[in-house]
This record gives sequence, C-alpha cells and structure tokens, in this order.
Amino acid sequence: MMTLKKLFLALSFLLLVLTGCSHERKSPLAAYAPAMKPAFEAELAGLAYMPRYDVTLNISPDQGWLQGKALVTYQHSAPGEWHSLYFRLYPNLKRYGGSLNVLDTEVDGNPVIAVYEADRSALRVPLAAPLPSGKRVSVYFSYTLRWPQNRPGYTEFGESQDITMLPEAYPMLAVPEPNTEGDPQWHLDMPANWGDVLFSESSLYQVTATLPADMVVATGGAEITRTVSGPSATWRWVSGPSREFTLIMSPHFITATEEAYGTEVTSYFLPEDESVGSRLAGYAAAVLRVYSDHLVPYPFRHYSIVEAPLTFHGMEYPGMNAMGIGLYRGYRSGLEFLTVHEIGHQWWYNMVGNDQINHPWLDEGLTEFNTVLYYEAIYGKAAAERLVRRRWMAPYENLKSRGLDATLEQPTTAYTRANYETLAYAKGALFFHALREKLGPGKYDRALRAYLDRYRWKIATPSGLLKAIADSTGYDPKPLYDKWVLGR
Ligand SMILES: [Zn+2]
Repeated sequence: MMTLKKLFLALSFLLLVLTGCSHERKSPLAAYAPAMKPAFEAELAGLAYMPRYDVTLNISPDQGWLQGKALVTYQHSAPGEWHSLYFRLYPNLKRYGGSLNVLDTEVDGNPVIAVYEADRSALRVPLAAPLPSGKRVSVYFSYTLRWPQNRPGYTEFGESQDITMLPEAYPMLAVPEPNTEGDPQWHLDMPANWGDVLFSESSLYQVTATLPADMVVATGGAEITRTVSGPSATWRWVSGPSREFTLIMSPHFITATEEAYGTEVTSYFLPEDESVGSRLAGYAAAVLRVYSDHLVPYPFRHYSIVEAPLTFHGMEYPGMNAMGIGLYRGYRSGLEFLTVHEIGHQWWYNMVGNDQINHPWLDEGLTEFNTVLYYEAIYGKAAAERLVRRRWMAPYENLKSRGLDATLEQPTTAYTRANYETLAYAKGALFFHALREKLGPGKYDRALRAYLDRYRWKIATPSGLLKAIADSTGYDPKPLYDKWVLGR
C-alpha cells in the first residue's frame, strides 16, 4: 500500500516528467500559434521550412522615421550551393519614395559587407561560406527608414492625412528561382507604376514596435502584448504564414468588431467615417464566411480592414486590407464590391502566391471573378450575372473596340496605365467566368480547392493552375486559356 507521502512524491515526479516532456516538445513554431485559429495551429508544425522574421522597430511617426533591427532565418531547400542571398528594400523604390539605409549586416553573427543593387531596391548579402542545400542561415540587419510625410492624394507608403502606411518596412528576402546547380536567379524585377510591387515567399513574423502610446496600430498579425511606459508603448505581434508584415497607424483611429467563423474582424477608421467603418466590419465578416464556405477556411484568428490614404482604391496585405478614404466619403457604390475583391486576396495572394510582376492577371483575375461567389450567395444569381456584364464584359468589349486588346501573360511593365485594369482584372475575370460556365459551379469550386491545396503558402504559376484544374476535374482548360489569356 502506498503511503500518502509516497503517492505525493510519485505524482510530483509524474508531473515533472510530463511538464518536462511538454517543454521539450514545444517547437519554436509554437510562438506563432496565437495568430492561427485553433483548428489550424497544428499546421504550423509543417511550416518549419518557412523563412522567419524577427523585427524590432522604434518608430517616430511625427519625424517620419524609424530605427529597425531584423533577424531573418532562412532555410535553403533548393538544390545547389549558394554564395549570397538577395533582399529587397521596397521602401527605396521611387514609387514609394522612402529611404531604407542598412547600417550593419551580419551572417550567422559575423559582420559582412552587403551591396546595394537594382537602384538600391535590392541588397546582396555575401555568405562567408557557401550554403549547401538543407542548411539554415541567419542574417541580421540594423537599419534606418525614412518615409514621405504630408503627401497629398494616393499614398501607399508614408504619411498622409494623419495615417501612416508602413508596408515592407524591413529588408525582405527576394524570391530565388532555383537552378539545378549553383546560385539561383533572384527575382529583382522593378515594378511598373501600376499593379503590385511585391513578390515574396510565405514567412512567419514576430514584430515588436515601440511607438507613442496614443497611436492606434492595425496589422495583419495577432497582438500578443502591449506595454505602456510613460509616453510610449511597446507592441508585440506574431503572424501566421504571411508574404509581408504591414503596419497602418493613426492617433485618430477608432474601431468596430464583428466575428466570422472564429475570426475576430476589426474595422479601423477615422471618427468622421463611423457609419461606413462599422458597415465595413459587417461586409468583411460576410465575405470571410462566403469564401471559407466555397474555397478553404480563412485560417487566422484576426482580420483587419483599415481606412487608408488610398483615394478610391483598396490594397491587400496578409490578414489585413486597406480601403481608400474616398470610398468612405464619396464613391460608396463601389465600397462593397472593392471590399469583396480585396478580401479575396487573402486566398489569391497570401495563401496562394504568384509573381505579381510577371503574371499579374493570375491573382487579380481570380480575385476579381470570385466576387461572384459572394454576390450569388448574398444577392442571388441575377445580381452576379449583372456584375459579369457590367463590370467585366462591357469594359472589355469597349477596350477591344478601341483596338487596345492585348495578351494577359505579360509583365505589368508591358501593360499601360490605360489598359492594365481592364485587361488584368476584367479580361482575367472573363477567363475564369468562361471556365465556370464550362465546369459548372460545383466543379469550379473543386478545381479552385485543388489549386489552393497544391499551392497553399507556395508560389503558383499559370501552368500550375491549368494542371490543377485538369487533374481535379478531367477538363483541359487549355483552349479557354489560349483564347482569354494568351489571345489578343
Ligand atoms: Zn486586387
């Protein structure tokens, strides 16, 4: 018979063993779990291959600058031995008008001399020793970043109307195009003045930012802590798989929240735009539900939709979308459609990535056309058909009649400001419309789910899309592709 004391000792020992085990089992990826819905936390265990960013920012919004530190851990999983890594410094693009200045660079703790390339929008980091396939490397940067302030009109980077936009405010790994041997071809394309700038791999983020305590900060991550110390506060966020980490802030933001299948939806807006700002939280929750039903569930615990100095435009970020101030105040008829479009990018951009410079129609066409899933679900079939005619068929027919038709399979730089949206968005949407007409709604959803499954957190290509459709439905989409995407 066991004495009470022995029983206590045995239980204590058992407890020690159990907690010891669970401690050992705790993977470094567990740090990102708060960003994921409980049903998707387990997915993190399979994402150890992803780049990890640990970014610390000391931000002075009034001065328009920050001091940053970024530790980037990269696993080289392609073939061949590499001699350098390339990073993009997007703030240095003329289009952004910022200035990211790298002060120190270290590789695995040893100082190296990094070299600016591509008009300072890229940085080559030499590796002290060749990096064999399968090995990890960590690169540390300290840097300063300045951004334009008081900008009039459309501001995708910097401060305008008391709102500060900080996308890609740190050195970001460029995307390698693997070679069978030796160094890869790194994507260092310069974007056009229209279309998106970013091409990146899904990564995991931990971001710490110190700011004035009265600032309201929106991100696509999960806030872990906020510590106020005198006039400043330090925030800490983590993300799930994300192609970037963006901060949008204003001392004036107020918020409204909704819930969608376990995701907390937060709308951030200026006080004078409260009625539209609260309405957006409702639209966003509805869109997340409809797309989760048709495609695959939105996996994150948080989603933010944020008023931003983007005139009548919207912009996608992982776990977050920005909506132009003009949409809250003037062009309200476009508000709901643009909300549906932008949120679609959580699937076609963040979940399934693609080269947005060289195949811009791939995510834009899908994002644009899949808005019919929402319009059918909320307003019925006739409303969705009206959308197809008015939003895509009519503008495309008009463009064609003016002799401006062109192939979709070209880089954004080969489009013009005049034809970009009608081609990449409207004609792109019409390709997916033709595909859905051919397959029927059920098979169409199945094809998209196959595509999502194959390229989840990866980078898709047009040929990958065609193969996913053919493999999952038995229908070869090549003739439709030749007509709508390659044709002119
Ligand atoms: Zn878009």
